[in-house]
Amino acid sequence: MKYRKITDLNIAGKILFIRTDMNVPIIDGKISDYTRIDSGIKTINYALENGAKIVLATHLGRPEELIFGQSIKDEDSVKIICDALSYRINKKIKLISTVPAQFDFEDYDIVMLENVRCNLGEKINNPELGKKYANLCDIFVHDAFASGHRKEASTDSVGDFCDDVCAGIQMTEEIESINQALDNPQKPVVAIVGGSKVSTKLNILKNLTLKVDYLIVGGGILNTFLLSLNKKVGKSLVEKNLVEASQEIMDTMNKKGKKVPLPATVITSKHFNNDDPAIEKNLTDLDSDDMILDIGVSFSDEIDKIISTAKTIIWNGPVGVFEFDKFANGTKRLGESIAKSGAYSLAGGGDTISAINKFNLAKNISYISTAGGALLEYLEGKELPVFSLLRRKYK
Ligand code: AMP
Repeated sequence: MKYRKITDLNIAGKILFIRTDMNVPIIDGKISDYTRIDSGIKTINYALENGAKIVLATHLGRPEELIFGQSIKDEDSVKIICDALSYRINKKIKLISTVPAQFDFEDYDIVMLENVRCNLGEKINNPELGKKYANLCDIFVHDAFASGHRKEASTDSVGDFCDDVCAGIQMTEEIESINQALDNPQKPVVAIVGGSKVSTKLNILKNLTLKVDYLIVGGGILNTFLLSLNKKVGKSLVEKNLVEASQEIMDTMNKKGKKVPLPATVITSKHFNNDDPAIEKNLTDLDSDDMILDIGVSFSDEIDKIISTAKTIIWNGPVGVFEFDKFANGTKRLGESIAKSGAYSLAGGGDTISAINKFNLAKNISYISTAGGALLEYLEGKELPVFSLLRRKYK
């Protein structure tokens, strides 16, 4: 894809509207994870070092839009982000509560808008609001990949009213890593899709059949695949209505001479908890009251071998109930196999990141996308609104 990056433009003396995604988790009034703030800082520092001034915008949570006369609630305010950012970059930031028609930077280099999701018209991508944002700047810098699957006034419409639109540094990193893993990968490509349900990942699985050499499934998805082959699954989590779809995915892969490896043994328990014994069983020996909660050891060995031959790895979703130590081994070993392989690895999704952190693997994964919904939609093969904006504003 051809698109403009912030590093392609002369930004000296310009005002940039940077749409970042600093939608951080807040627990008991405190930020519990600063990753998204730190990811956004790269673009801010680059802009300041190159002589630009910044209008910074992010959303936080899912507040109601404010109607005329209402003021923002404390819990919806981005002040907590503004303070944390200001501290981290050691710069004063002016927080303004409404989107002004015009404003003065005074002696600030950064002005931050209040939570964009509180602005009337934000969520419906209202062009009037987009124009208002655009009037504040010379260049629109989209740096919010995690919001790139949404068409909102501060992620989409604003771009229509700016002559210059470009990707920020965080956005560029996300685009390049996705490109390397999915659009232009070195082969063989191995994808691992785990998690609880086929239904939430059906389109991802279908899309990946077009791109990968090995599709490894785990979790409830694996159970449904096993059921579709008439294997015993006891009372494991399965989606009976997706048995046919699972079969079709395997058929598509097989017809292309690609592989969907399946385990001979699995880790079972009678109940979904950490207290009952975890027993490794042959699939053929499963009792009707057994639940499959992790993959067996020999399958982890097989996955390790496959991954050692890979040049590109895409990982989304745990292959077992990794939150319970007894059923964490499959996901831990999978993560370790990926981390020690020399392949380019892209991992993403909430539970995948939790697993990576739990097993301390982050530094050996090539790229960990924090993008959640946007990454999943991309894996489904959808054109994200951010890409269509960057494409149509390319010059
Ligand atoms: P997802 O949100 O679809 O990525 O699913 C992640 C969740 O799937 C995690 O909380 C895992 O505990 C759960 N999970 C993984 N394997 C299994 C399994 N065999 N049975 C039930 N849940 C599972």
